[in-house]
Amino acid sequence: MTERPDYFEEFEATELFCPKCRRATPARKHLLIVLPTGNKYDYRCSVCATSVGSKTDDDTSAFSILKP
Ligand SMILES: [Zn+2]
Repeated sequence: MTERPDYFEEFEATELFCPKCRRATPARKHLLIVLPTGNKYDYRCSVCATSVGSKTDDDTSAFSILKP
């Protein structure tokens, strides 16, 4: 057995389960929006482009660059 974290928040997955393909597929990470609290990313199936998840990190450096 392999140990895998159950929680998704800090799990940098390259493969995610796609409900449309009904299997784990390589996921592509897209930057959705830059928030004061961090950046929000969308993960999409690289096969059918269905959104398979999202993630928000706590990196505020991008937002501080945008601020005047
Ligand atoms: Zn898919």
